Amino acid sequence: MKMPLKIFLVGLIILIAVLMFNTFSLKSTASAVSNTIDIPRDDTAALHLSEAIQIKTVSFGDTLPIDTSEFVKFRMFMEKTYPLMHTKLEKQTFNQFSYVFKWTGKDSTKAPFVLMAHMDVVPVEAIAESKWTYPSFSGKIEKDTIWGRGAVDDKSSAIAIMEATEQMLSNNFTPERTFYLCFGHDEEIAGKRGANIISQWFKEKDIKPAFVLDEGGMIDTERFKDVQRPVAVIATGEKGFVNVDISVTIPGGHSSQPERETAIDVLNKAIVNVRQKQMPSIITAPVQSLLEKTAAEQSFFKRMAIANMWLFGNMIVGSMEENKQTNAMIHTTLVPTIVKAGIKDNVIPSIASATFNSRILPGQTSDDVVNFVKSAINDERVTVKKQTISLMEASSSTPSDHPSFQMLESITQKIVPNVLVSPYLLIGATDSRYFRPFSNAVLNFTPMQNPKGFHGIDERIGVTDLSRMISFYKLVLSEK
Ligand SMILES: [Zn+2]
Repeated sequence: MKMPLKIFLVGLIILIAVLMFNTFSLKSTASAVSNTIDIPRDDTAALHLSEAIQIKTVSFGDTLPIDTSEFVKFRMFMEKTYPLMHTKLEKQTFNQFSYVFKWTGKDSTKAPFVLMAHMDVVPVEAIAESKWTYPSFSGKIEKDTIWGRGAVDDKSSAIAIMEATEQMLSNNFTPERTFYLCFGHDEEIAGKRGANIISQWFKEKDIKPAFVLDEGGMIDTERFKDVQRPVAVIATGEKGFVNVDISVTIPGGHSSQPERETAIDVLNKAIVNVRQKQMPSIITAPVQSLLEKTAAEQSFFKRMAIANMWLFGNMIVGSMEENKQTNAMIHTTLVPTIVKAGIKDNVIPSIASATFNSRILPGQTSDDVVNFVKSAINDERVTVKKQTISLMEASSSTPSDHPSFQMLESITQKIVPNVLVSPYLLIGATDSRYFRPFSNAVLNFTPMQNPKGFHGIDERIGVTDLSRMISFYKLVLSEK
């Protein structure tokens, strides 16, 4: 045998050995089928959620006023429905409509836990109302399903936390450690008056939670088609948020004799240029874990690809870029959401502007976003400026070997048979982001299965889901 061929063959054997070693090192996580508990169906809680949905606690927009009478109604609903929570726990009110209930535990030396949910909902567009199966704020209960805005996002979590608390209080239960139950009233408009102020109060009082649990992750049996088990995704990190304004000023004039390029033309080109490219992809730690955990359940070739990212990384990134959700997990996204120009049909406007909404991956910053936009546009006539008012840089992630993650994993295994639990990255934003800067154990999860219609048409949740969520929060409240 000639030398070069020999070297080639030895190299090939080493390559195959490395590929196989990595592939077989990806092991499936054992399930805990035998440990699952019985979950009683809670029809009373379903009625309570129905009632909560009928109260229109809508956050219309950042600068638009809320209907305070609805938020007062919601407060009265809480007081009437959960009397023990109001008499036995310490209640604190923030900006009129956000609340924190402190449930003092037996052991004051242990750092407290925080359970969060928000009470506000997004509006229903007038044009969409007729498309709903039942009126959007009806709270209609049909067999196993509760319908209406907020059924998923996030009144079910709020109700489940309150139900669990009330039921445990009626059994004279006292938790081992102190719990803070936090209910914000403006999550859908960035939580500045609710969760933000609550988190500042935590900082002022020097309360350092050992664990913060908020909405976000869920149980999925639809999207991970090749995994033959329900997948519970628990978010360990969250993307950042920034708006970037671009504007072009070019003197306008009469539309009967236009210049070759107007402000609108330059703005259009700029938008197209930004949209044609993407910022560099990053596989963050939570996404890497999600890939590995789910790959271990899949075909040999998928396992081999994910176990050998050094070789197949580009291929995996390419396939993730084909789907908008998985693309958002590996890229900082940028999309124009507001475009403004023009006041009259025969006047060429002198100014045209647009706002890009960007969701920033951990590992990139709002300055990176601005620099990317500038270089993609590459035109000095376009001014690029980031908004600072709603800016939130991407947070660091909670490590998946953190005790709080393991705690949620084992609780989830108790309530979902044969479940595969995995970390993931939340691509939306939640109230819990205000806690991330000072707690290294913020997780986002509620055990609802394949929730439908949130922020859209026919939002609804199963009574079985709500019942499972109540059992879930009871287990969290029972943690030592
Ligand atoms: Zn929400």
